[in-house]
Amino acid sequence: MKNRIKQLLEEINQLAAGNQEELEALRIKYLSKKGEISTLFNDFRNVANEEKRDVGQLLNELKNSAQDKINELKDAFGATTNTENKPDLTRSADPVKLGTRHPLSLVKHEIVDIFSRIGFTVAEGPEIEDDWHVFGALNFPPEHPARDMQDTFFIEQNPDVLLRTHTSSVQSHVMATQKPPIRMLFPGRVYRNEAISYRAHCFFHQVEGLYIDKDVSFADLKQALMYFAKEMFGENTEIRLRPSYFPFTEPSAEMDISCNICGGKGCPFCKHTGWVEILGCGMVDPNVLENCGIDSKVYSGYAFGMGVERITNLKYQVKDLRMFSENDVRFLQQFESAY
Ligand SMILES: [Zn+2]
Repeated sequence: MKNRIKQLLEEINQLAAGNQEELEALRIKYLSKKGEISTLFNDFRNVANEEKRDVGQLLNELKNSAQDKINELKDAFGATTNTENKPDLTRSADPVKLGTRHPLSLVKHEIVDIFSRIGFTVAEGPEIEDDWHVFGALNFPPEHPARDMQDTFFIEQNPDVLLRTHTSSVQSHVMATQKPPIRMLFPGRVYRNEAISYRAHCFFHQVEGLYIDKDVSFADLKQALMYFAKEMFGENTEIRLRPSYFPFTEPSAEMDISCNICGGKGCPFCKHTGWVEILGCGMVDPNVLENCGIDSKVYSGYAFGMGVERITNLKYQVKDLRMFSENDVRFLQQFESAY
């Protein structure tokens, strides 16, 4: 009998089952009422009295081992048949990807970063404005033809409510509420009543800058802009200023940089001139300072403004302005490594 028990113990240690049915067959073979072990228990009464103690212990050991082994095999199946552990077939096969910054945001951040190194801080303002902050305070008299250059969207019931055409409106707020020295940047979205094409849109983005203090001169403006152009487009970039007209600056200028695509030699992008226009600038008109409560006999200042789309086109050669607002992932993904 002892030998039979030992033989079964060995057998049980080797047990393996390929599926639930096989496992159930093993349980019946060893642990059911008519199974091998129960048969041995039935035979126990025939064991000689002096051996009962030893054989009894062995029998119990066998029964426990068999039970443990069957449970162990059952657990192993449980792990693979448990629904909680089934792979979720609805999940995407690709790992979750982080998005990228929009190219306009990348460039806006870069502009702000460059000017912040020379002391400019950032101010923002509302996109829905009134006539005074967008036009009146900035020296656009009513009916003045300069307003035609910046047609925008008005509320029919109240033409005093409009979408700002430039972030200069934030300058009006800042000048009216802060005392000089003021050295600030104004990034934001602006609106114009324009037909949408590859080179114009009804909304775009600007970064404007304003510096007001005692004895600010045109030379200060030129130096700040030259620093910006070289930081943004490279050390070899040259600038040139051409006389221009804006209602809120006097004198006014437009700034070109040497074409960064052909290096100034001339190419289709710069229309073979070697120069591309990037921003407008000038000395703040004394009327504007006075409109905002700043004494124009004590203070002077310069202002500049650039289109973020324009700078982005120059940096990344985006051919069509509309791509910036189409949300086409194939376009946006190209800027993944740009920061
Ligand atoms: Zn060129």
